[in-house]
Amino acid sequence: MSTNSSREEETAPASGQLTRRTVIAGFVGTASVLALAACAPNAAGGSSLASGVPEIRKIVPPRLDTAYLGEKVLCYRPMRKGAPNMSVDVVGNQLIAHNYGHGGSGWTLAPGTARYVVDLAEATEQGKAVSKTDPVYVVGAGVIGLFTAYELVQRGYTNVTVVADKFEKLTSHNAGGLLAPVSMDNAPEIQKIIDQIGIDAYKFYARVAAGDEPNFPGGAKIVPSYFDTREDSGLEPYVGQVMKPAKDVVLDFGNGTTRAMVAYDDGIFMDTAVMMHALRAYLDAHVTFEQRKVVDFAELPGALVFDSAGLGSGALNGDGDVVSVQGHLIMLKDQVPEDLQSMILVYFSEGTTQAGQKVKRSFYIFPKHLPGTGVNDVGVVGGTFVEGGTSETPNEQEFDTLIAGAKSFYGI
Ligand SMILES: Cc1cc2nc3c(=O)[nH]c(=O)nc-3n(C[C@H](O)[C@H](O)[C@H](O)COP(=O)(O)OP(=O)(O)OC[C@H]3O[C@@H](n4cnc5c(N)ncnc54)[C@H](O)[C@@H]3O)c2cc1C
Repeated sequence: MSTNSSREEETAPASGQLTRRTVIAGFVGTASVLALAACAPNAAGGSSLASGVPEIRKIVPPRLDTAYLGEKVLCYRPMRKGAPNMSVDVVGNQLIAHNYGHGGSGWTLAPGTARYVVDLAEATEQGKAVSKTDPVYVVGAGVIGLFTAYELVQRGYTNVTVVADKFEKLTSHNAGGLLAPVSMDNAPEIQKIIDQIGIDAYKFYARVAAGDEPNFPGGAKIVPSYFDTREDSGLEPYVGQVMKPAKDVVLDFGNGTTRAMVAYDDGIFMDTAVMMHALRAYLDAHVTFEQRKVVDFAELPGALVFDSAGLGSGALNGDGDVVSVQGHLIMLKDQVPEDLQSMILVYFSEGTTQAGQKVKRSFYIFPKHLPGTGVNDVGVVGGTFVEGGTSETPNEQEFDTLIAGAKSFYGI
C-alpha cells in the first residue's frame, strides 16, 4: 500500500490573482484538465479522448462542514497476523471450525469465507458424521457468524443456534462497506486462497446488486471504486475473473482541484447495516438466537461448532496473533445522495495517536445509509487503522484529523 502526502502550492489563474489549492501526490493540474475540456461525455458522467489519455470525471465533493457531520463511530477490526484462522480442530468430541481474524476485509470476504469453512468442516470424518438435523452452533453474530448460519441453512441444516454476547452495534454494522481485500496481514502463501474467497464473495454481492438473491432485497450495489493505484485496491486478482480492468481517470472536484486515480467501475458497495438487518430477518425464521458469552466451546451441546467471534475468538482460543485495529468513522448527513454514488480510498501518512499507538491514516468515503435515517443522511467517511487501539484508547483527535484530511483531499 502506498502512502501519500499532501502539500499546498500557489497557482496563478488567468486573472493573474494568486489562489491556494491543495496538491496531493498523483495530482493533475488545472491546465491539463482545461486542455481536455472538449472531450465527449461518457456513461460514467466523465469524458475521454483517445485511449491512453485519462478520462476526466466530475465529482461533487461531499458537504464536510460541522453541520453535515453525524455520529462519530469507533470500532475495532479483528486482525490476525499471518492470515485469518480458517481451519478445523477436533477438541474432545467436538469439531471446531474456526473462521476469525479477517481484519479490514471481513465484509469483502464473508459469504466466501463462510462457504470455505463450512466446506472444510463437511470434508472431515467428524463433519460427515453430523446429520442435517443435529444441533450445530455458531459463536458470534457479526457478518462472519451470520453468513455462516446462512450458509448452513442453505445447505439444509435445520437445528442451527447462533450464540453471541452482543447482536447490535457490532463492528459488522459499523463497517464502511467497500469491497476490497485491504487491511489484512496475510502471509504470501495464503493470499491465493483469500483472493479466491473474495472472488466467490464478489459473485454473491453482484447477484444481490442485480436483484438475483431473493433473500436480500437490497444491501449491495455496483458503483465506481477509486484508488491511488491498482496495487492499493487489492482487486487486481479479481480482474479477468469477475471484474473488468481498472481505468486511469482524473477526478475533477470543480473547485480547481483534480486528482489522478484508478477506477474500477464494477466496484461493489455493501450497505453493511442494511445487509446485517436483511441477514438477521432471514435467519430469524430459520435458526435460534441465544444471547450469552461463551467461555469454552465445550459448554455448547453440539458436535459441530463454528467459531466466528471476531476479536472474541482471540480470547476463546488463546490466540496471541489476534490484534484489535481501531477505526474512526464519521457518518454524514444532509448530503446530496446522487453526488455520493462512488467510493474513494486513499492512504495518507503513518503516525502516532495521542495514546502513543501506531496509526495508518487514510481517507475513504462510501455511500452508506443507516436504516431509519433520513433519505439525505448518506455517506460515511473514514478512516484510521490504529494498531492495538481499544475502547480504552479512543484517540478522539483522529476524528478532527480525518475531516482535515478529507477536506485537503477535495481541496476545500
Ligand atoms: C472502521 C472499520 C471499517 C471497516 N470497513 C470495511 C469495509 O469497508 N469493507 C470490509 O470488507 N470490511 C470492513 N471492515 C472490517 C469488517 O467490519 C470486519 O472484518 C468484520 O465486521 C468482522 O466481523 P466478525 O463477524 O468477525 O466480528 P464482529 O462483527 O466483531 O462480531 C463478533 C461477534 O462475536 C461475538 N462474540 C465475541 N466473543 C464472544 C464470546 N466469547 N461469546 C459469545 N459471543 C462472542 C460478538 O458479540 C459479536 O456478535 C471495517 C472495520 C472497521 C473497524
